Amino acid sequence: MGVVVFIWILFGIAAGLVGSSRGGNGCLYFLAGFLLGPIGLITAFFEGKRCPRCQKKISNNAMVCPYCSYEFKSEN
Ligand SMILES: [Zn+2]
Repeated sequence: MGVVVFIWILFGIAAGLVGSSRGGNGCLYFLAGFLLGPIGLITAFFEGKRCPRCQKKISNNAMVCPYCSYEFKSEN
């Protein structure tokens, strides 16, 4: 039983790290990973925006694409 809880906590930490690195709410993704396990971790990978030039998923906060150096226009 203890091992299962430990694995679920690991999913929470992983989801939190992935989600926050993509500009999402780390605490929210930690909870999602902790409650949903692998499903929460997968949803964290969907966080972020897609680069219009190279179609790679990058952080919401990125101003320049790290893959192809496409520059995003500021939206505000
Ligand atoms: Zn790009």
